[in-house]
Amino acid sequence: TLQIFQKVSDYEWEIPPTFRSGMRVPVRIFATRRLLEKALQDASIEQAVNVATLPGLVGRVLVMPDMHQGYGFPIGGVAATRYPEGVISPGGIGYDINCGVRLLSSAIPYEAVEPYLDTLVAALDHHCPSGVGTHGAIRLSDKELDQACRLGSRWALKQGMASEQDLEFTEENGCIEGAAPEKVSARAKERGREQLGTLGAGNHFLEVEVVDQIFDAEAANAMGLFEGCLVLSIHCGSRGFGHQICSDYVQEFQGAVRRYGIQLPDRELVCAPLDSPEGQAYLGAMRAAANYAFLNRQILAHHARQAFEEVLSGKVKNWHLRQVYDIAHNIGKIETHEVDGKQVKVCVHRKGATRAFGPGSPAIPAAYRPIGQPVLVPGSMGTASWVLVGTETSMRISFGSSCHGAGRVMSRNEAKRQVRGEHLRKELEADGIHLRAGSLSGLAEEAPQAYKDVDAVVETVSGAGIARKVARLRPVAVVKG
Ligand code: 5GP
Ligand code: MN
Ligand code: MN
Repeated sequence: TLQIFQKVSDYEWEIPPTFRSGMRVPVRIFATRRLLEKALQDASIEQAVNVATLPGLVGRVLVMPDMHQGYGFPIGGVAATRYPEGVISPGGIGYDINCGVRLLSSAIPYEAVEPYLDTLVAALDHHCPSGVGTHGAIRLSDKELDQACRLGSRWALKQGMASEQDLEFTEENGCIEGAAPEKVSARAKERGREQLGTLGAGNHFLEVEVVDQIFDAEAANAMGLFEGCLVLSIHCGSRGFGHQICSDYVQEFQGAVRRYGIQLPDRELVCAPLDSPEGQAYLGAMRAAANYAFLNRQILAHHARQAFEEVLSGKVKNWHLRQVYDIAHNIGKIETHEVDGKQVKVCVHRKGATRAFGPGSPAIPAAYRPIGQPVLVPGSMGTASWVLVGTETSMRISFGSSCHGAGRVMSRNEAKRQVRGEHLRKELEADGIHLRAGSLSGLAEEAPQAYKDVDAVVETVSGAGIARKVARLRPVAVVKG
């Protein structure tokens, strides 16, 4: 079956548009031969071929090495459509709008904190509400929620839950323009109002990690990453708010597909022209959810800092957490990229993929302009996670994008069948990983063996040149919803 691919390099494969009728652009897959063979076990590549039929596509449809099958689009997919005539597709952004990762760094040596780790993980669990449908301490009126969706992290600044520096080191400074809360349904608002500042369940987590190895001293220095010291990762998104917005527009766009006469190989690819009223409405609602998610991670970071202070102040020197960066990995962005020698305005759909802008980009904080944008790649609760940076090559060949994680190899159900939560917990604890989990079956779904080898995924993006290694992290304490 590998015959359908043209090998471009050890890390890149291409399916030409002649492969199937209806394809408008090629599909480029970033993978080693091994990862590619693995990917063929689910529908992710077939889904990428389907995506390649969407109206208005520019360049290529890209698939990252952490790919697995998702709703319509594969997770790990990147697709850029011409603005404003091309389409926008909610399935190309995902149900958890602006799911993303925030990384905070410290100068706390692991040895200094080791005796307090169990207390620390309990405090993190206490300060950051988690679980399915959890309510946070913050309850907003409709008006306040609209305001929060317009301001994103800036709302937290007003409430004393963020610093200017936190905002500076957040993608889009934590506030995307053009959010349209008036395009968000009452049902979504109802769900969103009570969930701000909560982690949720399943794949979302708070994790304390140790900087295990540094690969690029200059970049690590710029980010405040010190070998042997602690960092904190936060992974979550827009909770029920974004999920409801995605559901609403997937429904709504079925009509748009008919009205605009769009031919689709898969209903799950429902979309609307960016310049249609429907497309604009979704764009505005999606941005409201994106701001909600930036704010959500900001509030969680604020509470995590309170936990650090409560447990470590007076016991450990320099226990403060500095924000390294916060990136989205489920989002659509209007950007300008060079395609075939011309500057083109596009809507880049990144679903289970992150931005990876190269050095010099005005979209990244001044402190990182010499090194490139930080790319945060969680692996699993029992293996490594990575910090990378974007490159000039990513700007040239992947619309400034890279991978977002290790990616699943097992479905949640399969993981539950194969892994016993209690056994996994003992294994992790034997490895010195302190754990707080909402449920043992939820834990089993997220077992390290349910995910690909994150080191192989990182080897692929770095081999292809779309990201560069900065630091490898290893987990020491995990809070799972
Ligand atoms: P997603 O947003 O696709 O659900 O997850 C992103 C990535 O996070 C996954 O592909 C997986 O590699 C990683 N991941 C899932 N659970 C954990 C965890 O508990 N800790 C870390 N470090 N990574 C995880
Ligand atoms: Mn998510
Ligand atoms: Mn995510």
